Amino acid sequence: MIPGPIEFEPEVLAAMGAPTTGHVAPDFIETFGQTLERMRDVFMCSDGQPLIIAGSGTLAMDLAGANLIEPGDKALVVNTGYFSDRFATLLERYGAQVTQVNAPVGARPSLDEVEKALSRDRFKLMTVTHVDTSTGVLTDVAGLAALARRYETLIVVDGVCSVAGEELLMTEWGVDVALTASQKAISVPPGLALLVAGPRAIAAFKARRTPVASYYSDWNNWLPIMEAYESRKAAYFGTPAVNLVWALNVSLKQILAEGMEARFRRHSALGAACQRGFSALGLAQVPTALEFAAHTMTAPRYPQGVNGTDLLPAIQAAGATVAGGLHPAIRAEYFRIGHMGPTNVGDLLATIGAVEAGLSKCGYKFELGAGVAAAQGAYREAMS
Ligand code: PMP
Repeated sequence: MIPGPIEFEPEVLAAMGAPTTGHVAPDFIETFGQTLERMRDVFMCSDGQPLIIAGSGTLAMDLAGANLIEPGDKALVVNTGYFSDRFATLLERYGAQVTQVNAPVGARPSLDEVEKALSRDRFKLMTVTHVDTSTGVLTDVAGLAALARRYETLIVVDGVCSVAGEELLMTEWGVDVALTASQKAISVPPGLALLVAGPRAIAAFKARRTPVASYYSDWNNWLPIMEAYESRKAAYFGTPAVNLVWALNVSLKQILAEGMEARFRRHSALGAACQRGFSALGLAQVPTALEFAAHTMTAPRYPQGVNGTDLLPAIQAAGATVAGGLHPAIRAEYFRIGHMGPTNVGDLLATIGAVEAGLSKCGYKFELGAGVAAAQGAYREAMS
């Protein structure tokens, strides 16, 4: 129950274990083509170009930064934690002049603060972390995308902890690039960087005056490959991760069979269940307001007198694996639970039960069962 890698569906794992074919085998060509088409539906982007490349989520961030930034370009980072910091560092590596809009840990910059920054300068792009996995803070991507449109700035969304879990409507909201990795709500073992570039992002890339500084990330190398496979022809730049692409095709099919709206709703209900469950136990959370608490993960704070060194092994002993803190400023003050992809309410209730067992073992006083009961009630309410 950590926020990625998550646990995967048996059909997805079976695809990982199937005998590997070559990347020019006819059935692989068909699979890759289908997978690209399904990605567009999952990202809810009717007019974007999907890219599927072997690597982790950080490569997906690199695919955005390397191709959209030229030395001297101005970029705005809407900062909600550790992974927003990473984007700022990455953009600077490619020569961007980065301005950041910050917020205290656990909060997010307001739309007004972001608008103020946008109105003071002319930015080529802004980056937003949809869910910062270090804090569990959810940003208002729809609102930020509307600002990006008003100020004619490209908006790049790091959706590593959101895509296929949190509501994200690329085309309708006007998002230019959304990116993720395979191991979270996309529900495929780690190893794929996934990105969809909308028409304004592709146009900005084509208008570059300087070559892309990263050889592996250069869209010039990858766009013809993706276009070829989608028109059911093989092409080669770097050997695709054949089994991971098969697994991705299976998972995207499952995601689309659930339906995007149903999936967003289920995740939203899981988030609400966690919120209500932990507050019934008297635990605060890193996000400082419910309104911007993520639905794909939860970041509860340790209650007074309890620390991670004692609690995390006790939760593990009670049957659930959760993650410790990540944000350097508060690392020892909180833990993290992922609830995305195939995670169902039963998994979540079992986890909250294990947390209760752990808290009890650590001597924390509360009404045993209160968290599970509250979570169950909240889930039922949200789904009815
Ligand atoms: N962005 C966010 C929001 C993430 O949660 C992560 C990984 N946890 C990354 C980027 C980087 O992804 P990866 O570890 O797959 O490189």
